[in-house]
Amino acid sequence: MHQEVDVLVSEVGPRDGLQSIKRVMPTENKILWISALASSGLREIEVGSFVSPHLMPQMADCATLVREANKLENLNVLALVPNLKGAELAIAAGTRKLTMPISASLEHSLNNIGKTPREAIEEVSRVCGLRDSTSVEQRPTIDIGISTAFGCTLEGAVSEDWVMEMAGLLAKAGADSIGLSDTTGYANPSQIKRMFRRLRGEIGVEKMAGAHLHNTRGQGLANVVAALEVDVATFDSSLGGLGGCPFAPGATGNIVTEDLVFMLEAMGLHTGIDLDALIATREVLLSGLPDEVIYGNIPEAGLPKGFTYASERNVT
Ligand code: ZN
Repeated sequence: MHQEVDVLVSEVGPRDGLQSIKRVMPTENKILWISALASSGLREIEVGSFVSPHLMPQMADCATLVREANKLENLNVLALVPNLKGAELAIAAGTRKLTMPISASLEHSLNNIGKTPREAIEEVSRVCGLRDSTSVEQRPTIDIGISTAFGCTLEGAVSEDWVMEMAGLLAKAGADSIGLSDTTGYANPSQIKRMFRRLRGEIGVEKMAGAHLHNTRGQGLANVVAALEVDVATFDSSLGGLGGCPFAPGATGNIVTEDLVFMLEAMGLHTGIDLDALIATREVLLSGLPDEVIYGNIPEAGLPKGFTYASERNVT
């Protein structure tokens, strides 16, 4: 197993995928699935969300999942935290990387969390304060995803200048890293290039996080290629595109991990992930959620004859 990867694939299915479907996957099945995903070579998994169980009963076991996933080797365990309360629970459970979605769209932000974007940024400062007062052994990093950064289903276009101003304010608030999320599947490749280039100019390369892309309008992998061209090296994706898209039947929500990994490896970019093992985790997922509709072209079509991984081609 290689230590270094060219591109970090961050699996968000257990959080983004499971939170968008109504059924609750049993905790034992989630643990089996997460450990199978890690065994396939994934280095980072977002295992759940420390959101109120009244709002999302399917995320109620997040603390257990963090504790179990922390036992797996070579894995960064992430959890979403919506606010300070969630951050306290996440740190108590031993989460070392917290991700907070902060919406650029006023309407989306008010609808989702009842706060304006500026109020949400103040919450980020409080969470960063909590991080700083946490003992070094337990101290997490705080990663922010600016959601609806490329457009909003409620507001339509979102000002790119505002998104950049937000990134600057979030960096000042103490965020360790900041990325951009195409929550609504509105982004196109030109916009992706322009925005990530600007983001790097705004916050500097050391605070740059990755791209969280959705495939709602079929632009997902094209947007990945655009982001690669401006040196984005971390991408969120979901096994089987789990969760789908309620607004576009047949379309996936998150980009499909299997297709993303295939594309990266075929392009010569080492991910450290074994595609056969990754595809086999679909069965583990389905055993916990029988008959759930999942997506993916590579699992359907199979790997091309004679396919080789990026690392195999670099060997001399
Ligand atoms: Zn998402």
